[in-house]
Amino acid sequence: MAPADAPTVVIGAGLVGICTALYLQRAGHKVVTVERTGPGDGASGHNGGIFSIGAVVPTATGSVLRSIPHMVFDRDSALSLHWSYLPKIAPWLTRFVRSSGNDTVERISIVLASLLSQSLEAYEPLLRDIPEGLVREGGLLYAYQSDAVFEASSGDAEMRKRRGIPFEVLDQQDLTAMAPLLGRRFERALYLRDAPFTPDPLGMTRALADVFTANGGEIVIANVQGFVPDGGSVSHLQTSTGRIRAKNVVVAAGAWSHHLTRMLGDRVLLETERGYGMTVTDPGFTVPCPVISVEHHVGFIPTPEGLRVMGISELASLASEPDVAVFDRLSRAAKKVFPEAELSDADSWMSYRPSTPDSLPVIDRATRAENVYYAFGHGHTGFTVAAVTGRLVTSMIAGEDGGIDLEPFNVRRFARWRRARAGK
Ligand SMILES: Cc1cc2nc3c(=O)[nH]c(=O)nc-3n(C[C@H](O)[C@H](O)[C@H](O)COP(=O)(O)OP(=O)(O)OC[C@H]3O[C@@H](n4cnc5c(N)ncnc54)[C@H](O)[C@@H]3O)c2cc1C
Repeated sequence: MAPADAPTVVIGAGLVGICTALYLQRAGHKVVTVERTGPGDGASGHNGGIFSIGAVVPTATGSVLRSIPHMVFDRDSALSLHWSYLPKIAPWLTRFVRSSGNDTVERISIVLASLLSQSLEAYEPLLRDIPEGLVREGGLLYAYQSDAVFEASSGDAEMRKRRGIPFEVLDQQDLTAMAPLLGRRFERALYLRDAPFTPDPLGMTRALADVFTANGGEIVIANVQGFVPDGGSVSHLQTSTGRIRAKNVVVAAGAWSHHLTRMLGDRVLLETERGYGMTVTDPGFTVPCPVISVEHHVGFIPTPEGLRVMGISELASLASEPDVAVFDRLSRAAKKVFPEAELSDADSWMSYRPSTPDSLPVIDRATRAENVYYAFGHGHTGFTVAAVTGRLVTSMIAGEDGGIDLEPFNVRRFARWRRARAGK
């Protein structure tokens, strides 16, 4: 067993890992974070940067399911699938389909809302210490080019209403008042006035990592390769640069977490929905706040340098290279929304959403190692709920009630699904 003065080790310096490390530090833990490349190099540094407080609609819904057959064959759709990967992802897809029934969707939405409702408040103490300008007010627009699509999507708006998410419905006149370009491009929008955003997700993650190290935390750059068991717990991590002793371990390794949980005896259904983005310095226009085109599933986020454009959900292996054709697909989608967009001078990136089939993260203790905790699988909302996750993990380690029912985030559900599939 590791000595009592051994640190709590967090694996992964994405936002989930860094926020967890910061909360642990605030609770008096000595904390070491082990990160393979650098803070924010994963999904946390490459995303929309939107505090998506209204993201209470799960990814798997009946209407999404109905649109999939059309989307996979449409070379311009926001869904991309590597066909050779289909056999590998089949169990995940099966559970995705099973999560899309109306009652299940409603239940998942309520659970998501429990996290999202505390997301901003949990960030507050952490964001106080980072440079100004990294988090901005401005709101978020879910924008519709056609009234018909707006009407057809009323189910999502109703779900937000049921969860108590405040939003305004804007018409073309309201949009013109915000920015004439918006009035020309969209007929309707849902405006979530209270949703902040960062123009620089990588900068924000690194700034939080700097706070962690300034307060005495250590970030070790190494690849975690295994765990050294000791009775019913883990005493050390085996890394590419040597062993690290650990009093507690938190697995917050984003889309790679299942490689680690497997070593601990927990098999989880975690896949990546790869997202694509580009940062454009001179797009020829700007938007007053983040805008998500509902028809084309592409987001536009204003930054001091220009515009960040992002979207696409690509089901493919973690190991395969970014697909150049998908960047073109994103450009075409962006131009369908803003034909004036000048996207040739763009800095492009691809990153990995860590996605479970039921849209719920895993926030739990490992089943076979009593000092190992899980915090991963946040899919489309990890940027938003990183801090509340860190706070919950810290409470869990202290044996305290974190104020949110953690049962829906348990790791045992995957074994239950597997047994159900096997008919046991
Ligand atoms: C295009 C796109 C747009 C998005 N927009 C938004 C948005 O606007 N709002 C929102 O809330 N969410 C958004 N998301 C989702 C969000 O980015 C993710 O859910 C979140 O960043 C996940 O954070 P994480 O810390 O779990 O993972 P990551 O940020 O990926 O961090 C995991 C870290 O673990 C490290 N690691 C992995 N394995 C090991 C190992 N064995 N040893 C050591 N280190 C390891 C990796 O190097 C990585 O740095 C978006 C995602 C994408 C792709």
